Amino acid sequence: MADRRRPMRPVAPVPSADLPLVAIVGRPNVGKSTLFNRLVGRRQALVADTPGVTRDRKEGLALLRGRTIRLVDTAGLEEAAPTSLFGRMRASSESAVREAVLVLFCIDARAGITPADEHFAAWVRKQGRPVLLVANKAEGRGGAASAMEAYSLGLGEPVAVSAEHGEGLSDLMGEIVEHLPPEPEAEFEEEEDEFEADAEPQDPDAEIVLPARPAGPIRIAIVGRPNAGKSTLLNALLGEERMITGPEPGLTRDSVAVTLHDEGDVFEVVDTAGLRRKARIDEALEKMSVSASIEALKMAEVAVLVLDATLGVHEQDLQIARLIEREGRACVLALNKWDAVEDRNATRQAILDRLSISLAQMRGVPVVTFSALTGASIHRLLPAVREACAVWNARVPTGELNRWFEDALERHAAPLVEGRRLKLRYMTQVKSRPPTFVIFGTRAEQTPEDYKRYLVNGLRETFNLPGVPIRLQTRGTK
Ligand code: GDP
Ligand code: GDP
Repeated sequence: MADRRRPMRPVAPVPSADLPLVAIVGRPNVGKSTLFNRLVGRRQALVADTPGVTRDRKEGLALLRGRTIRLVDTAGLEEAAPTSLFGRMRASSESAVREAVLVLFCIDARAGITPADEHFAAWVRKQGRPVLLVANKAEGRGGAASAMEAYSLGLGEPVAVSAEHGEGLSDLMGEIVEHLPPEPEAEFEEEEDEFEADAEPQDPDAEIVLPARPAGPIRIAIVGRPNAGKSTLLNALLGEERMITGPEPGLTRDSVAVTLHDEGDVFEVVDTAGLRRKARIDEALEKMSVSASIEALKMAEVAVLVLDATLGVHEQDLQIARLIEREGRACVLALNKWDAVEDRNATRQAILDRLSISLAQMRGVPVVTFSALTGASIHRLLPAVREACAVWNARVPTGELNRWFEDALERHAAPLVEGRRLKLRYMTQVKSRPPTFVIFGTRAEQTPEDYKRYLVNGLRETFNLPGVPIRLQTRGTK
């Protein structure tokens, strides 16, 4: 099967020794390995359980916003050194820190700052490398207090993340890239950047409706049931586009991300193809490959949900669609194997009906039909991804939002709860990616689910937000 496919080869092999090295350090158990796996896009458990893949490979390549770095995880190495905890931490980190262009100093935001953190931070400061302080385990609001405390380490402002839950990683990646030394010979990119900078609105008072998405590629996860055609699709996309993968032979198997270019935009496909291929060989890993899709989703902005159109919609497709919603990702529905579909109109309608009955968030989702096998129409995919990403980033101005909200309340009065009518007063969009709104009002937190659904559907239609999960929160006021 593999030989039919195009071999994965980097366009410009980069000797890995030339890539900037970033070291993850910190006391045991703060989550270094979890963060490492997150950034290189590889599951630790998969590494641990697969014969032939050694647990002690602590270095990996990570492609962050178009820059490839070597990432070194110092976790576990301390066990080799038979001295005090601090001595072991130091021994395990010394050579990595010496080589690094940037050190990620990790703390556990839930545990707060410990004497070991302080001691170790003092040593790291002395090494004179640029340091980024990472407050891990900060999911939800966890660790807000120790984030303040973390300033006392003298390593600057902490970046709060949850490596396990995939929160804050996009910001962290941005920070890492900003701390890297400039890329040698990026002449082409620079020219384009200048051109784009010129095109920005010059009038400082001009109203900005869509905040620019953070610079960098649009990240895509290709997900779907086994045999839907995900690998074929990725290979077809690669056949059309220039490609870059992890340049080291040892890394292609769990290659990290694949870069695609389309009309000046850069896309990064979080590639779990290697993991899937592996999964075919080893039954025990089949479940893991599903988790790999979940991991890919966490890293992505847009999910491309690939369906085998000849088979219609199955429960597993719905499960994956629910995952996409749970992770808050924008979605593009890809109906693959279109070459093998006979009645195309009926097939398309049947699939869309089934999806929109089962899942409200799939209503109006952008749909592309193509054949990954022949390549027919796959050029439609990336433009659809671009649009879905724009919607995901959208901001609705508060004025417009509240004009609509008043209408919505008039058309369907807020319900009675325990015999008293809820007084919903005001709505605001607190964030995008995905669009998230808050309703304020007396006892707003008691708003029943069906009324929230009514509002979410209205938001989706009125402000043209198809194919993205919409979050609606409530905040009671006195
Ligand atoms: P290391 O020794 O620094 O490499 O730490 P590990 O990566 O092995 O993680 C230590 C423990 O913390 C494991 O049980 C992880 O599951 C857990 N952990 C890692 N990241 C997070 C996180 O973001 N939130 C929470 N709650 N736990 C985490
Ligand atoms: P994955 O498990 O989702 O990665 O699926 P694969 O890419 O391995 O594809 C599964 C099977 O479907 C392979 O036999 C492919 O040749 C076939 N396939 C993939 N795309 C198409 C398509 O567009 N049309 C047809 N007829 N077959 C396809």
